[in-house]
Amino acid sequence: MWQHHEEIIIRNQMSSITRNGLQKSLLAWFDSCARALPWRIRPSLYGTWVSEIMLQQTTVVAVIPYWERFMNRFPDVSHLARAEESDVLALWSGLGYYRRAKNLHRAAGIIMNERDGVLPADRKQWQSLPGVGAYASGAIASIGLKEPVPAVDSNARRVLCRWFFDEPDLVSSLKPRSLEELGSGMVMASRPGDWNEAVMELGATLCRAKSPQCEQCPVLDFCRAGLAGVAEKIPPPREREQAIPIALATLVIRVDDQILLYPPGKTGLVLLPGQPELGRDDTSGLHEGLWSLPVTPWYVESPAISQDLDNDSFVVDWLKARLGSLGPGKIADVVMGRKFKHSITRYQMKVRVWEIRITKKGDLSPESPFPERSDELAALVFPKAKDGMHLVNLVPELPVSKLVEKSLAKSKDQNV
Ligand code: SF4
Repeated sequence: MWQHHEEIIIRNQMSSITRNGLQKSLLAWFDSCARALPWRIRPSLYGTWVSEIMLQQTTVVAVIPYWERFMNRFPDVSHLARAEESDVLALWSGLGYYRRAKNLHRAAGIIMNERDGVLPADRKQWQSLPGVGAYASGAIASIGLKEPVPAVDSNARRVLCRWFFDEPDLVSSLKPRSLEELGSGMVMASRPGDWNEAVMELGATLCRAKSPQCEQCPVLDFCRAGLAGVAEKIPPPREREQAIPIALATLVIRVDDQILLYPPGKTGLVLLPGQPELGRDDTSGLHEGLWSLPVTPWYVESPAISQDLDNDSFVVDWLKARLGSLGPGKIADVVMGRKFKHSITRYQMKVRVWEIRITKKGDLSPESPFPERSDELAALVFPKAKDGMHLVNLVPELPVSKLVEKSLAKSKDQNV
C-alpha cells in the first residue's frame, strides 16, 4: 500500500521550476498581508509553543487576549512549571479544550525537571512532550527554530491537496504520511516558519473549503485543482461521524451572591424520576480540573425528555421538596433559565438551565437555621452527594468549563 502512495507522490511531484515559482509568489503574497499578531511581533520559542497550543481548534481572534494574559503571568517555562495547575486552568478558562492547558503545564514540568529548563532543540524532541503532536511540533520547530519541516493542519492539508491533485479519488486514498512527504518537499528552507504560516493563511483565507477564490489566488498558475476548475471538489468530503443529539439540564443554585459548585475532580448528577441514566455524564474527564455545576445525565434527546426538562412545575416541586427544610422565606425563587445549544465532539446538546435563588435573609427562626456550611446546604439539595460542594464567589479567574460559563450567562439575567 505504501508503495502505491509513493507512486502517487512521485507521479505528482512538482518540477523544481514550478516549486520555486510557487514559493516566491506565495511568500510575496504573505509578506504583503500577514497579520501583525502578538506572537509574531514578540517572537520567542516559548511564546510560539504557547500560541500553537492555544491555536489548536481555536481562532486567532479568540486566542490573542488569552496569549497576552498567559505570557504576562507566565513569561517563561520556569514560571509556568512553578504555577499551580488550577492557576493555569484559570487563565485558560473560556478557551475550551482544557486538556491542552494541562499538557502544557505538564510539559513545562518535564522541561524543568528533565532538561534543566532548556526548551527542545528540534521537532523530534518537541514531539516527545505531552500535547505536542505532528502538526504542533512542525509549527513550533519551523517558526521558533527555523527547522525546515512542514506543519500540516487542516488548512495546509487542503491547500497541498489542491496544488498537487485534480482527481478526488487520488486524494481519498492519500495517507497522512504521504501528505507529510508532499509538505516536506515544498518547505522553503530559507524561511520555513513563514512558509508554513503562508500555506495555512492561504487555506484560511482564499483557499477555503467552500467557494475558494482561485481568481484572486497568488499561486493559481501553479495549482492543479485551481487550473482544472475543480478546487471545491478537492479534497472530497470525509464521511462525518454521525452527530448524537443530547438533552440535559444544568442546575444553578445561587445563595445570595454566591453559587454552589463542585470543586475540580468532583461531580454530581441530578436524575430525572422515571428516566434511565442514559448517555454519558460529565464525569468523563472532559472537564477535569474545572469547577462544575450539578447536571443531569446526558440524555439522548427525545420529545419525552425535552418535555421533562422544560417542565417548570416539575423542577419547582422537585427543588422545593429538597429545600423545604430551609424554612419559609429562604427560597427567593425557582426559575427556568433559558435554553442554549452546545457541542462537545459529536454530541450536539440542548441545555436547559434550572436556577434556584436562595437567600439567607429569610425567616431565621431557631427551628430552621440556615446551614452554616456549604456542604450541609448541598446535602439538602443532593442527599446522596458523596462529595462536598462549595459556595463560591464567581470571579473571572475561577476555572469553569464553557458549559458552566454558558449556563451562568443564561441564568443571571433572569428576574427574581
Ligand atoms: S488556485 Fe484556488 S485551489 Fe489553488 S491554492 Fe489558490 S485558491 Fe486554492
